Parts: sequence; C-alpha cells; structure tokens
Amino acid sequence: MKSANRILNMYFATHKTCNLSCRYCYIPKDNRQEKKADDSAIINALIKFIDKAESEGYAIGKFCFHGSEPSLMEPVTLTECTKLVNRHWKKNKIEGLSVAIQTNGIRLNNDYLNVLEEKLNNKNDLRIGFSIDPPKQVHDLLRNDSYDIVFGNMNNTINRGFKVGILSVITNETIQYVREFADWMKYYSWLSDNKGNPYKIKIKFATGEQALNEKEIKELSDYLKSNGLMNLCQILTPGYCMQRGNECEWYEFDIEGNCYSCNKAYGEDGIFANWQNETFAEIVDKRKNLYITYLQNPECCECIYELICNSGCPIDRKKDGELAGKALECSLIKIVLSESEKNGNYIYEIINNC
Ligand code: SF4
Ligand code: SF4
Repeated sequence: MKSANRILNMYFATHKTCNLSCRYCYIPKDNRQEKKADDSAIINALIKFIDKAESEGYAIGKFCFHGSEPSLMEPVTLTECTKLVNRHWKKNKIEGLSVAIQTNGIRLNNDYLNVLEEKLNNKNDLRIGFSIDPPKQVHDLLRNDSYDIVFGNMNNTINRGFKVGILSVITNETIQYVREFADWMKYYSWLSDNKGNPYKIKIKFATGEQALNEKEIKELSDYLKSNGLMNLCQILTPGYCMQRGNECEWYEFDIEGNCYSCNKAYGEDGIFANWQNETFAEIVDKRKNLYITYLQNPECCECIYELICNSGCPIDRKKDGELAGKALECSLIKIVLSESEKNGNYIYEIINNC
C-alpha cells in the first residue's frame, strides 16, 4: 500500500453535460457543453491518468465517476473503466475499495443494467449512487419531473442486487414536506439496516437559492433528531471531507486534464492545476493550500464541536453577517450533538470512535 500522502481520493469527471437540468445544478451555465464526451476519450484519459499516477509513485484511493452526468457513457465503457481502476488497485496491492458512480439515475434502466451485469466480473465491483430528493413533490420540482423514472430505476437496481447508495439534498422545499421526507428516509434506512442495500444513505444541505434559513435548519434538526435520522447527515458522519474544514482533501480530475477541489468547484473558476502538464506532487501541494486561509468564525475556536466540524466545508460556509465563517450546518451540529451529550454520548467518545 502506498503511503497515505501518495493516495488520491477522487472523482473522475467524465462529462460537462447532463440529461437533466436541475434547479440547483452545480455546473455554471456557460460551462455546460452541448455535446457529450466520446466514450473513447474517457477510456483514454483514464488510462493516461493511471499510467501517469503510477509512474510518479501515486495511487488512486477512493474513486467515483462524477461530473456532470457520468452515466452518459455507455455501460460497456463504464465496465471497461471500472476494470481499469480495479486492475490498478490489484497491481498496487490496494484492497477493500470499490469503484462508485454518482448518477441522476435516468439512464439506469434494465438495458443499462443488463450490460453492467453481463460485463462486470462481479456486481459488487461497482457501487451505484442515486441522487434523489424525496418526496416526489420536491424531487419533481427541483429535478425536472424525473422522480418516477429515477425512483423506479433505483428500486430496480436494488432488487437486481447491485449495491446502491442514496444521496439527497435538503432544500427549502423539503421543509414543506418534512413528514413525507422523514417517512421515505425511515423506510430506506430500515431496508439498509435489515437487508444491507442501500448500503449507504446520506443527506446534505443545499446552498444558494434553495438553502434553508436558520429557522428552517433548526426545525429540520429537531425533526431529524426526533425521528432518529441524524446519522444520515454527511456532516455528522465521520470521514467526510467537510469535517476537515480548510484542510479538506479531495480531488476532481476531468478527462481534459483539469483539476478541481471537488464537485463544488467544478467550473472554470475552480480549476487549480492540470494533471496532464503538472506532476502529482505539484498538484497535491497546490490542493493543500487551496482553502487554508478561508475565513473561520472566531467563535469556532472556542466551540467544543470544532473538533468534529472544523467550521465545515470552506465553500459552503456562511459568508455574511454574524454567522460568517461558520459551517452551513452549524445549528444542526449544535442541536444534535448537545442532545447526544444529554444522552451520555460525549463528543470525545464520538471522536475516539471515528
Ligand atoms: S471544498 Fe467542501 S466539498 Fe470540496 S473537498 Fe473541501 S470540504 Fe469537501
Ligand atoms: S458547530 Fe458552529 S460554532 Fe462550532 S465549530 Fe462548527 S461552525 Fe463553528
């Protein structure tokens, strides 16, 4: 196994186009290409990426196809790319990892799954993350009336035995349907606990126009707490990038050579290096300094929860007013963790168990 600082935990961005047009799409409009990438370009870029990483003594750690809709590649290409990454892990004696894809789920129908099933060595070689924002009323509003297709494909993918993850964004629309949201999440959490699939369910908060205000965050936090759903929050799940605050470490590499910190910076403004022209040592060094000076609220230094939160994701952090420099999820963290302490689960134990 390579030493930890020579491991690249990463998204591999295959496209700059999408078959949906979500209201909160993270791709700046000017950056959305009309034409989807050629599948051969994706395969060639991945081969080149792996060869270059290996020749410089680097290895891929966590790997997820992303940006903007990776299922636009044909399923046979997805399996080919999955095998390339698996071969790289095997060659470098890296164990216990699976390739993942984060998808809007539109194309994950039986035809697509048939090819994956036929071509993959093992269904478990690929984990399929669906982006879905329950309940239906909210998803349809934000994600182009696609709920029925995505929900059907997601359940079918689970039933066919592929490992499925669920990622949902909480918006100010969700708060209007908070009971339906909680019922949906409780059902899939039950399925996860009892059947092991979905293998993971996570929720994160929207930013920008769809963001919850402070009152709504508090209301939602109480609701999550009383329904036992706090463990779904990314910010409260050990191991996520945002808990490292300004020292977050993740990468998004696209097939053209561009390097971004992650999907939240996936646009022209977010390009900080080029993996085709620069060494990985240079790229890692640049990445480490990307957010190091971002504002953290002075109160965070005195906050007991700083050990877990580190003021959260630097990009999502609150920008204005007295909360400037605090995590987007600051109120949720305080409400949930103070309750947890009342029940005898102290912050230090939570950290020690991470
Ligand atoms: S900027 Fe935010 S989302 Fe991106 S890697 Fe850092 S903490 Fe994670
Ligand atoms: S919980 Fe809030 S105040 Fe405490 S460290 Fe996190 S962002 Fe700062």
